[in-house]
This record gives sequence, structure tokens and C-alpha cells, in this order.
Amino acid sequence: MAFVITSPCEQEKAGECVEVCPVDCIEEGKDMFYIDPDICIDCGACEAVCPVEAIFMEEEVPDKEHEYIALNRKFFEEE
Ligand code: SF4
Ligand code: SF4
Repeated sequence: MAFVITSPCEQEKAGECVEVCPVDCIEEGKDMFYIDPDICIDCGACEAVCPVEAIFMEEEVPDKEHEYIALNRKFFEEE
């Protein structure tokens, strides 16, 4: 389980979430930010500060955003 960043981040992308993450697992990609699911401790701090509600617990990601679960994981696999 982990938190997942979804499509609304693509327009906002100001990085507020990065500043509050206690384990430093949010990184900036080309179009948006991503959460490393292997490091996230599910604290919810990032979700609380995201101004566009782009961040969800994995099991609460809306159906139309489901591809982002794999996209967050993939970003860190390719590093
Ligand atoms: S706070 Fe939300 S919109 Fe801003 S960078 Fe983080 S996930 Fe993206
Ligand atoms: S839920 Fe907590 S640990 Fe996971 S990405 Fe957000 S701030 Fe970081």
C-alpha cells in the first residue's frame, strides 16, 4: 500500500507535497510528481497539503485514474 499521485498534479506541480513528506519519497518527473510506493509510509501528510486533491490512498484512487498506480511505481523502477 502507498499513496498515489494522479492527473491533477500535471497542471499544478508546485511540490508542496515534497516539503511535508517525512521519508522523502516524492520525486519530480517531467510532467508531474510521483510517490515511491516502496518507501511511502502511508502517513497522509502529502494528501492533506495537495491543493488540487491529486493524491489518494492506493485503494481509493478513482477508476479513471487507476493507470497512475502503475505509473508512480514505474517511475522509480526506471531510475
Ligand atoms: S501537492 Fe499535489 S499538485 Fe502539488 S506537486 Fe504534490 S501532488 Fe502535485
Ligand atoms: S503518505 Fe506520507 S510517506 Fe507517503 S508520500 Fe505522502 S507524505 Fe510521503
